[in-house]
Amino acid sequence: MQHKTVIEPFRIKSVEPISVSTEQERTQYLKDAHYNPFLLRSDNVIIDFMTDSGTSAMSARQWAGIMEGDEAYAGSRSWERMEKEVRDLTSMRYILPTHQGRAAERIIYGHLGGKGKVFISNTHFDTTRANIEFSGATAIDIPIAEGKDTALQHPFKGNMDVAALDLLLKEHKGHVGAVILTVTNNSGGGQPVSMANAEGVAAICKRHGVLFLLDCCRIAENSWFIKHREEGMEGVTYREIAQRMFALADGAVMSAKKDALVNMGGFLALKDEALAEACINLLIITEGFATYGGLSGRDMEALAIGLQEIFDPHYLDYRIKSTLFLGMKMHEMGVPLMLPIGGHAVYVDAKKLYPHIPPEQYPGQALVCELYELAGIRTVEIGSVMFGTYNADGSLQPAPMELVRLAIPRRVYTQSHIEYVIETFAEIMKRREYIRGLKIIKEPRFLRHFTAHFEPLS
Ligand SMILES: *Cc1c(COP(=O)(O)O)cnc(C)c1O
Repeated sequence: MQHKTVIEPFRIKSVEPISVSTEQERTQYLKDAHYNPFLLRSDNVIIDFMTDSGTSAMSARQWAGIMEGDEAYAGSRSWERMEKEVRDLTSMRYILPTHQGRAAERIIYGHLGGKGKVFISNTHFDTTRANIEFSGATAIDIPIAEGKDTALQHPFKGNMDVAALDLLLKEHKGHVGAVILTVTNNSGGGQPVSMANAEGVAAICKRHGVLFLLDCCRIAENSWFIKHREEGMEGVTYREIAQRMFALADGAVMSAKKDALVNMGGFLALKDEALAEACINLLIITEGFATYGGLSGRDMEALAIGLQEIFDPHYLDYRIKSTLFLGMKMHEMGVPLMLPIGGHAVYVDAKKLYPHIPPEQYPGQALVCELYELAGIRTVEIGSVMFGTYNADGSLQPAPMELVRLAIPRRVYTQSHIEYVIETFAEIMKRREYIRGLKIIKEPRFLRHFTAHFEPLS
């Protein structure tokens, strides 16, 4: 029999209790947190959809690996396992362990960057952009046009605009630090990148003699989309799809907190010896010796195992389909979303949900607060709170989109948790016209979304 029900392909061996609060209690918690979910205690959250980064549940095999970790300073057995696993997957000769993604980014972009250098990506993730700009270089995003329209359906909205890439490489000849393809495109809504696009980007980079890097945090999720959406790929395994994509690149940066199913970890993988040597020097100065980087032996053990588990077809099927299930139920209810649904998150278009709330009253933040108060669901605003700036006259220059992200931790929540979220959205839809915006009463100069204080408008 062919079942329609997608089950979680795991049994639960160890549980973490959720402390269930009342709506009245949450009203107070939210007030105490100045209407900013980053300032909430996680103990007061029922469903935490703030991020899928470092929030995965590890398997029994990974926990067993934690006990087996070899904590030797040099030549650790756990490092050998991690290096072998990453090398088999990426076919890259030089593997540098780092404590998370941005540490690998600081090393490679610190080395390649500097004033006058240009980096080009489908969309730079915020830490990627920050590390490039911190070096003095410039980061340019060139997603395909379809990727910028939230309602438009397209199988690979994460693709890079290859025609624009060709022009930019001519324009900035001699000054390009690297071309970076982010798979899936996190800041662009978790949208996938096709193999054909990666091949196109690789060919253009080769022709211009510039370095081509993959930001491969969600390469396994991306492989699912390629297998199911790209012609000629249906017979190829997920792991082999990833291997083919790595084969096109000169290097890769990974935050293992995503698709390596660990709570902390990352790596930089490179093919070129001279480049790797320069990066290993920086690794030793700021992260740690070359056989552990910023990681404990036990972390490297868990990472090596996680990288195998992530390509399990049953896991990936469950992962993408359960995200899709949440998204489609919300879509059927009329919740305005970024479409199609991506791999790791569902993005609500708060500008369309609350058309009566102008950007300077932060419709996304209003939804974030509403979700928490009603149901204890923690999400994150990706709109004018996060990306808004001020004009010379003090008025707000809003972000292009007012999104709220529901990022789903891997292997953590079950079907009933998801149904609880869906039920909450039915209520959100009922009261949408009565919801008011907020104003910011205190904010720092940089990355204000983390610490800003808000007040609801009456
Ligand atoms: C998370 C992430 C990073 C940064 O990794 P950290 O482990 O958070 O430092 C870089 N790029 C992308 C696409 C990411 O999703």
